[in-house]
Amino acid sequence: MENKKRVLIIEDEPGIADSLEYVLRTEGFDTVWVQTGNEGLSIIRDKQCDFVVLDIGLPDINGFEVLKQIRSGSQLPVLCLTARAEEIDRILGLELGADDYVSKPFSPREVSARIKAILRRSNAPEKNSSCPFQIDTNKRQILYFGQKLQLSRYEFDILSLLANRPGWIFNRQKIMDLVWLEPDDSFDRTVDAHIKMLRAKLKEVRPDIDPIETHRGIGYSLKEGL
Ligand code: CA
Repeated sequence: MENKKRVLIIEDEPGIADSLEYVLRTEGFDTVWVQTGNEGLSIIRDKQCDFVVLDIGLPDINGFEVLKQIRSGSQLPVLCLTARAEEIDRILGLELGADDYVSKPFSPREVSARIKAILRRSNAPEKNSSCPFQIDTNKRQILYFGQKLQLSRYEFDILSLLANRPGWIFNRQKIMDLVWLEPDDSFDRTVDAHIKMLRAKLKEVRPDIDPIETHRGIGYSLKEGL
């Protein structure tokens, strides 16, 4: 029998933690719940969990600090819970690098589905050794097969987002949340238009490859194992 994966929930609101624990247990996970960042970190240091669900707004140290400390010592998968859209950039940013996030209010089933997806990905064999993209965040430049791309601000942000996480499907709303400062109502078409431009620019470099995949009705991802 396969060992149950143990999910550490760091969340100060008992109502949220209760419903998460209930759903995760019915879906075959083992859970442990703590209400403060420091208690969570001590469990992580003792290697007593396989996965972390981390609330950003905690009573002792904030979730950003907890995430930073986790990342300084391990690649333990982390899913963040956030109540504020403006936190999302930092959560997923290179500096902190959570594996995913969900915005409050959320359904515990969505959290469970995302945990499973992250665990599937982290068990998959490493394929990005030959990733054709080199991203320089400071210069805001992307090389594609060694060739510099001329990208607008949004094109750069969208391509960085996809290329940093090959195989991840980002829906349009998520792309909008992460890339645009002021999302507007026409986001579906706006995102689509930028993806179209990006594809044209990538095609100029390599007409034989389309590295961006469209997932109908869901969103976009960068192909894995390019
Ligand atoms: Ca909280």
